[in-house]
Amino acid sequence: MKILLTGAAGFIGSHCAQHMVAAGHDVVGVDSFDGYLYPSEVKRENAAVLAKHLSADRFRLHEADIADETAVNGLVAAARPDVICHLAALAGVRPSLAEPLRYTRANVHGTTVILEACRRLAVPRLVFASSSSGDGAKAVEGDLTQVVAFREDDPCLEPASPYAATKRAGELLCSTYRDLFGLGISALRFFTVYGPRQRPDMAIHKFAAAIHAGRAIPVFGDGTTRRDYTFIDDIVAGVIASCERVTPGRFEVYNLGGTVTTSLSELIAIIEEAVGKPAVIDRQPLQPGDVPITYADVSKAARDLGYAPTTSVRDGVARFWAWYREHRAS
Ligand code: NAD
Repeated sequence: MKILLTGAAGFIGSHCAQHMVAAGHDVVGVDSFDGYLYPSEVKRENAAVLAKHLSADRFRLHEADIADETAVNGLVAAARPDVICHLAALAGVRPSLAEPLRYTRANVHGTTVILEACRRLAVPRLVFASSSSGDGAKAVEGDLTQVVAFREDDPCLEPASPYAATKRAGELLCSTYRDLFGLGISALRFFTVYGPRQRPDMAIHKFAAAIHAGRAIPVFGDGTTRRDYTFIDDIVAGVIASCERVTPGRFEVYNLGGTVTTSLSELIAIIEEAVGKPAVIDRQPLQPGDVPITYADVSKAARDLGYAPTTSVRDGVARFWAWYREHRAS
């Protein structure tokens, strides 16, 4: 297939590009190298890895803003992809409270530009990166180890942050475009993804860097909040299976998680073990917009996509740390 991949220079996108080409697909990447959430130099470095490892016949990367309708239509018209894999977005819960307009522009307007390009230029299939943070976790209270896993048909009526709301809005727009125009769309709810090249603003990367450097780590809350962490290779397998199986005329939502929850305190202990140093904890209050737990029921993705995550958090953090030591520690 020919896949147009937005967000190709980002953390998840750059891994997807490599594995898509390895799976025999041709990839046209698009990225704006946005520098708001973390420095654009990191994305240029990811792009350089792709340029080094992938042949120019199979992979090209264009610098463009997905919120720019003319640029997107030009790229889609030239590429004529079989499927668009739309990962470009501004991620990050807490920064979205500071600049919601920036988030709605990239994530809601940008996603609508992509949907319009599918409709007008006859691209029948779209895979959309959504998020576990759009689910109804805000209502969870009490013993978090007893919480039932999130399902795709949870109502998700109260996203806890502007970021989560933009992702839920993207899902709703996708559903509307299926109903009105017959597009085939799979929306993938990723659950906290980590691994080599993880975004530097995310907890595992931030904590490992600080512990290694002997700096204190800010820990929000008492350490009992829980996350379902998903190793990058498991996510990539789910994304590629979705691109290969998305069917015109159907809208599906899939959870892609690791299926195990880890408390923040447990995570810090695992990172300390990998780095080989104790953390200095700077205890802070819980932050607005954060949810107490994320936890994926992946039975639908297992049935339809053959999704089966295999990497434990301990193994995955060790693999992240091996990458960090080689590429960042100096
Ligand atoms: P990332 O920031 O590393 O990648 C996103 C890429 O999109 C970046 O390279 C960025 O430059 C690009 N981008 C942003 N705005 C753009 C625009 N207007 N035009 C073109 N490109 C633009 O983030 P990531 O962690 O790789 O996330 C990829 C996708 O997965 C995002 O949609 C994110 O919301 C979603 N997601 C990620 C996680 C996670 O844990 N990493 C969890 C849930 C959902």
